[in-house]
Amino acid sequence: MIYLDHAAATPVSKKALTAMQPYFADDFFNPSAAYLPAKKVRAAYEDAKSTIAHCVGAKNNDIVITSGATEANNLAFSLIKKKCLVLATEHDSVLNVAKNYDYEEIAVLKNGLIDLNDFKKKLSTDVELVSVALANNELGTIQPLAEIASLIRAERERRLAAGDKTPIFLHSDASQAMNLLDINVSRLGVDLLTVNSAKVYGPKGVGALYLSHDVRLKPLIFGGGQENGLRSGTENVAGVIGFATAFKEAKEHLNGNRKKYEKLVKILRDELKKGTVEPIFLGSTKHQLANFCPVSFPGLDAERLIFKLEEAEVYVSTGAACAASKGQKSHTLAAIGLTDEEIAGSLRLSLGELNDEKNIKQAAEIINRVVKEEHERRK
Ligand code: PLP
Repeated sequence: MIYLDHAAATPVSKKALTAMQPYFADDFFNPSAAYLPAKKVRAAYEDAKSTIAHCVGAKNNDIVITSGATEANNLAFSLIKKKCLVLATEHDSVLNVAKNYDYEEIAVLKNGLIDLNDFKKKLSTDVELVSVALANNELGTIQPLAEIASLIRAERERRLAAGDKTPIFLHSDASQAMNLLDINVSRLGVDLLTVNSAKVYGPKGVGALYLSHDVRLKPLIFGGGQENGLRSGTENVAGVIGFATAFKEAKEHLNGNRKKYEKLVKILRDELKKGTVEPIFLGSTKHQLANFCPVSFPGLDAERLIFKLEEAEVYVSTGAACAASKGQKSHTLAAIGLTDEEIAGSLRLSLGELNDEKNIKQAAEIINRVVKEEHERRK
């Protein structure tokens, strides 16, 4: 098998798996219980939570553990009373929660980057939350968060000077960026940040939301008051320990990872250019996560390409895995102005731990063969 869909899921790292193991059976105790073995589990949990917080430049108490990025994104929006702005290319877990509020989409440029002029125009006095993913899940586009944060700061100061008490916060979903970018909440200038274990070689079903001290959220889940009352339910001890181990490991390999994927993606692109149909590489290759290679073969049907590639045990996806499974047209590719034909022929190739030079060359050869067959079939 050649797996080129690391943006959809990453295998759990060996280190994370080993770290989690004891907490399924031997150390199964409820961390809220009063006896010593349970207190040890509480200590291990809080340690892991601190590790996750440190990975984004924050402290244990600044983060809320959730069941993944979807829940973290939903929780972030609970602060809104008036209006929010979301980037048009956000993941469905941001776009669909925004629809419960008064919301507007911020346009993107053809290269996938935020249209800052459109943003400035829409930054009205009643906007309380702006949500822009650090890196997009279909294109890998890295957004200029510090620049966005500085415009929000200016709006905050303007409101202060005018005696307007409406708060304004910046939220970012960093799910896709964790393996490649050195994430630090202060440097990014964000007030809320979503992280996702499933994309960083940790277990699925775990995530976290960072929130700055002046953010007031409303819980989505009520119960025993865990996570400072913001997310009740018995703690997912093994999951959080796996997440912390994997996130820390990823942090230690950021530079190596970036170099590895830059080299592999260049090989992939060069090989694909030799094929029958000229590929269009999507998004800004300059402002793109190093492991992303979104590509369109206009005139071909990506669903058929995926099916044919699967027969050769090459696993790729069209855009976001959840949208693809519902057969929907990608809102992200539409937002960057691709034609229907370009969208229909688009594949998201995302590299990771399971790739090396040998299997990337093999994958490119198989993709070129399948593209040629499909091109000839349509002639
Ligand atoms: N946000 C982004 C950018 C993602 O890529 C994903 C996963 O595909 C999610 C949120 C949702 O993550 P989860 O399904 O783990 O809640």
